[in-house]
Amino acid sequence: MTTEHAVRLTALRRRYDSTGAGVTALDDVTLALPRGSFTAVMGPSGSGKSTLLQCAAGLDRPTSGSVRIAGTELTGLSERRLTLLRRERIGFVFQSYNLLPALTAAQNVALPLRLAGRRPAKAQVREALGQVGLAERAGHRPTQLSGGQQQRVALARALITRPEVLFGDEPTGALDSTTGREVLTLLRTLVDTHGQTVVMVTHDPVAASYADRVVFLVDGRLHGQLAGAGAERIAARMATWEAGREAAPC
Ligand code: ADP
Repeated sequence: MTTEHAVRLTALRRRYDSTGAGVTALDDVTLALPRGSFTAVMGPSGSGKSTLLQCAAGLDRPTSGSVRIAGTELTGLSERRLTLLRRERIGFVFQSYNLLPALTAAQNVALPLRLAGRRPAKAQVREALGQVGLAERAGHRPTQLSGGQQQRVALARALITRPEVLFGDEPTGALDSTTGREVLTLLRTLVDTHGQTVVMVTHDPVAASYADRVVFLVDGRLHGQLAGAGAERIAARMATWEAGREAAPC
């Protein structure tokens, strides 16, 4: 059994053949993320970051290789089983908060439980909103909340099922730097206090510096990593691609 890791990707490959020449978006990616870790995924545009996240979260199917979430192999699962697994064990937040405008914060947060056919307990919804510091805003609709507050509601919605892994695709991309830092501090607290596993794609070195580890992708391949690095070191590492040089693996 390989249950010691929240996420384990082995020899992951994703090819898109719809276009004439075909594109290899992910090429032999092997990566293991421990429970309770915070990982940032960085790389130039088109390097495969979103594809990696989508395959790891069961939103896309790799062409070959293996994806395990807390020991469960995702490849080969039927659509129905995969949908259930995503609903119960995976949380996802996007750059755009994707809240339903007609619903209150509490109703948005309760939605994943309703979709799973469960009756959400008020205390559970209140706890999830409390976790993101929005207990007082339960009755507000998205338009009555700031961008940062909306993203925190989206986080509470992603966390209500107590997922094994929380995936974020540029979760602070639409926020100003102060509000973005609040959301990143919240993610860090979820990892440190609740042992939540977080995997986040970002192009922002400051955002990535909140993670324990930054993994770099170039042309669909892993291209080294940094552990416990500050924003300056991460930015310097990224600048090596922009200068067209090879980043040395560490
Ligand atoms: P990133 O998130 O790092 O910008 P992506 O994962 O979005 O990179 O894309 C990786 C590569 O795969 C790119 O070359 C992109 O053009 C290609 N790609 C992504 N999605 C599709 C798709 N649905 N069809 C064809 N090519 C795709």
